[in-house]
Amino acid sequence: MSDIIQLLPDHVANQIAAGEVVQRPASVVKELLENAIDAGATNIKLLLKDAGKTLVQVIDNGKGMSGTDARMCFERHATSKIQKAEDLFNLSTKGFRGEALASIAAIAHVELKTKQENEELGTSIKIEGSKIVSQDFISTTKGTSIAVKNLFYNIPARRNFLKSETVETRHIIDEFQRVALAHPTIAFLLHHNNNEVYHLKSSNLRKRIVSVFGAKMNEKLVPIDETTDILTIEGFVAKPEYSKRKRGEQFFFVNDRFIKSSYLNHAVVNAFDGLLEQGAHPSYFLYLKVPANTIDINIHPTKTEIKFDNEKALYAMLRATVKHSLGQYNVAPLLDFNRDANLDTPYHLNSNTKSTQVPKISVDHNYNPFKEENTRTSNVSFTPQKSTESWESLYTSTAVTDAEKQSELFDNQQEVKTQKTFQIQRKYILSSIKSGAVLIHQSLAHQRILYEEFLESITVKEANSQQLLFPVKISFSSSEIEIIYTIKTELENAGFSFDEFTKDSVTIKGIPTSVTESKITIILEELLSDIDLEVPDASFSHFDVMAKSFAKTLSIKTGTQLSEREQEALVNDLFSCKEPSISPFGKPTFKTLTLNEIDNLFNS
Ligand code: ADP
Ligand code: MG
Repeated sequence: MSDIIQLLPDHVANQIAAGEVVQRPASVVKELLENAIDAGATNIKLLLKDAGKTLVQVIDNGKGMSGTDARMCFERHATSKIQKAEDLFNLSTKGFRGEALASIAAIAHVELKTKQENEELGTSIKIEGSKIVSQDFISTTKGTSIAVKNLFYNIPARRNFLKSETVETRHIIDEFQRVALAHPTIAFLLHHNNNEVYHLKSSNLRKRIVSVFGAKMNEKLVPIDETTDILTIEGFVAKPEYSKRKRGEQFFFVNDRFIKSSYLNHAVVNAFDGLLEQGAHPSYFLYLKVPANTIDINIHPTKTEIKFDNEKALYAMLRATVKHSLGQYNVAPLLDFNRDANLDTPYHLNSNTKSTQVPKISVDHNYNPFKEENTRTSNVSFTPQKSTESWESLYTSTAVTDAEKQSELFDNQQEVKTQKTFQIQRKYILSSIKSGAVLIHQSLAHQRILYEEFLESITVKEANSQQLLFPVKISFSSSEIEIIYTIKTELENAGFSFDEFTKDSVTIKGIPTSVTESKITIILEELLSDIDLEVPDASFSHFDVMAKSFAKTLSIKTGTQLSEREQEALVNDLFSCKEPSISPFGKPTFKTLTLNEIDNLFNS
């Protein structure tokens, strides 16, 4: 029988390896930036075209490569960073596998230019699909430039698999931010399609964080600083009142390397114990330094997870340090004062002794929910089309007029004085209906109402906009400005109007009528983080993301006490929605309990 096993040709092996190293343009960005840092660069430029699909180029002023090394660096397992297996346990560089450039060169058109300090001439190499196309001497400055063009040109399946430009750009910016935050003293420049996105000067940690995330970050930061025998912790946590509803700005760096660790995250969250609203995530930028031989970076191919020798001790120290700093900066007492103690007390109804938050819905005081439908005016700025069959069929199957239906809904409508709705635990509204009772989740119901209102105004109607007396200037990071700019038209449809865009701020002169001025920043911030987290597919629509995001941010929250009128308004607005029974995020907004079901509760 003949032998059938062969070694794969190098370029095939490289393509296979590339699958592991390079998932998308952002992976190339990460590898090239890390190489530049390992080369000792103090100035790094990242140039992109079409979200990196057409070009990712990194230019550094690092130590450069000799002519031989320039050729060698594209070989698999070619690295200058480790020599023997033991070196793996004492890493001080970012790279060490020696497969990034080999992988990238297997699946793109790559142009390398490099020169060492004391050499007269540098080297230029072109390589396509692992094949060297040309090698020349060139005169160039010290350092290295690597241009990666037409990524996945020879693997159409991978190229087609890439997401929209927005998404790929977002991934690249994430990688860029991680590297830039890990190395505040290195100057970075990021250009996308010839627009400058970031221009970061050599600076310190605090300034770097602020220049990446925008000027408003400065006031949020509480410094952290602790040195012990086994580690040092430096950095910042954001004050709890600035915590986010989505995990976003959470950064751990271990020995200047960005890592993900749910274990360490837990330690930080734990230190915020009692200071965060439910479901809120603290922002943090924490820099840990531990002896290189006490960590193992090698367990994950893209190296964002690492293993610590003394995990438990790190956990305890991190938690204690963050807790201590929060206390020292007097963040804790301030927040306790702001908390509404009533939320923790059961059976608290209708108390006027505590100042409670004013619910954020406007009420038409003349509005009578039991009047004929066609004479009523909506108590919010938008009147959705009535499509009542779906919900009303829950209550009655006989054909009756709209007015009759409306009045049959509530069985005690004759007695004007009787309360028709009850708020339970500042969370639910209970209402008696003909067939039994309906229990409405106030926050989810309000989300549905606002969602339909926004969706309609964004897509169909002239938006209801209010001009601000004084335009508001809000600072954002330059990448956030980019995103706001790309959805400007949709935002205008929703009722925003903009005055001036700069690299790191936007001036707003008009807002939707349903938004109050104090909420502008938060709703835009939330929107950005929602767009960020959205995993877009073909049906990706900014309209929908925007309407959902606004609805979620502006909805009445659990814990808000509502007056009887407000409760009724909410109930009626909900049942005027096109789809009253589910929230924009797919949760039920109300449940009905039929008389039978209630009876059964007592018959078992
Ligand atoms: P690794 O970084 O794991 O060593 P790479 O494939 O990323 O593997 O790079 C291979 C080698 O090429 C590096 O070890 C380094 O010697 C050299 N190299 C890559 N990029 C640069 C650069 N920007 N400046 C100087 N040398 C570089
Ligand atoms: Mg590398």
